[in-house]
Amino acid sequence: MSDLQTPYYLIDLAKLRTNMERIRYLRERSGAKCLLALKCFATWSAFDFMREFMDGTTSSSLFELRLGHEEFGKETHAYSVAWADHEIDEALGYADKIIFNSLGQLDRYGARAKERGIAMGLRLNPRFSTSGFDLADPARPFSRLGEWDLNRLEAALDRISGVMIHYNCENADFELFDAQLNRIEAEFGGFLEKLDWVSLGGGIHFTGEGYPLDRLADRLKAFSAKFGVQVFLEPGEASITRSTSLEVTVLDTIHHGKDVAIVDSSIEAHMLDLLIYRETAKLPQEGEHPWQIAGKTCLAGDIFGEGCFPQPLQVGDRISIADAGGYTMVKKNWFNGVPMPAIAIKAEDGTIREVRRFTYDDYKASLS
Ligand SMILES: *Cc1c(COP(=O)(O)O)cnc(C)c1O
Repeated sequence: MSDLQTPYYLIDLAKLRTNMERIRYLRERSGAKCLLALKCFATWSAFDFMREFMDGTTSSSLFELRLGHEEFGKETHAYSVAWADHEIDEALGYADKIIFNSLGQLDRYGARAKERGIAMGLRLNPRFSTSGFDLADPARPFSRLGEWDLNRLEAALDRISGVMIHYNCENADFELFDAQLNRIEAEFGGFLEKLDWVSLGGGIHFTGEGYPLDRLADRLKAFSAKFGVQVFLEPGEASITRSTSLEVTVLDTIHHGKDVAIVDSSIEAHMLDLLIYRETAKLPQEGEHPWQIAGKTCLAGDIFGEGCFPQPLQVGDRISIADAGGYTMVKKNWFNGVPMPAIAIKAEDGTIREVRRFTYDDYKASLS
């Protein structure tokens, strides 16, 4: 075990390689390009490792766009739900393609993109998705995410060369993906064949164990051939899933009818996504002793979940919380002034290198 001061996020490159090799295989077999979605994972110290396996990045904002351009390189897609007047020129300076969320934004900024010779796209919302959670469902009622009216899409045809269709959410079911892509082909095929490229967004869990990668690759290749388009995917979670842990230490134990270990971290500050989606953290499940693992903020429900351990936990014990890479490090915050986890990278030879440690000055600088 590393002697680094906890808490810290640990990115394990040997585990990350498993995902990266699957991405490379999919790209080679299907011809699709894969762009890392930075809203899920933007820990740029890992980009040197990831770059050879992926085609570039896609973004949700000017800052993500700039980070992708500066630190990842290769192909950089610019998407934002809404660009501001003061952002657009800078954004066009970083982008290889810019994807507008609405016809209104295309009308407002399309001429400037054209002047700079930047390829343009629109977000197409097919009005269905695989998300079961309202908060993350782009097809929810009155969704602001993209255009679906064919008349409006056709009105953009003289300016755009492609569309982005993001409608999957942690979808591990290839049959469902296939059926929904059939629907897209049936409803929008006549429009898609007038384009040069189609991004099918993120949310396809194709790096998961047992996923039928060959079938996905062949399906994407057939889609690409049928409409004469370059296909893009924008994997976020699938790129980094199971690669990263959050390493914490037990600070106190409490026994109010249950064995509870308080650790030097916080689900609200360091794994916020779990709290938002009412999920529990992936804790060790080995041994006879069930313990609740809780955070050190004063939020009553600051609870990571239940783990099982070979021995009763004691102050000073280390615990590794698995799968802490996606939508975690990008959301970490200074709630309660809890020290922000450092970031460390475990190389494939097993050596661990700390790449960032946050201090009181970082906390102070986040406010004024
Ligand atoms: C969130 C998002 C992604 C990445 O989604 P994952 O589920 O992490 O793969 C890709 N594209 C767009 C447009 C997104 O909003």
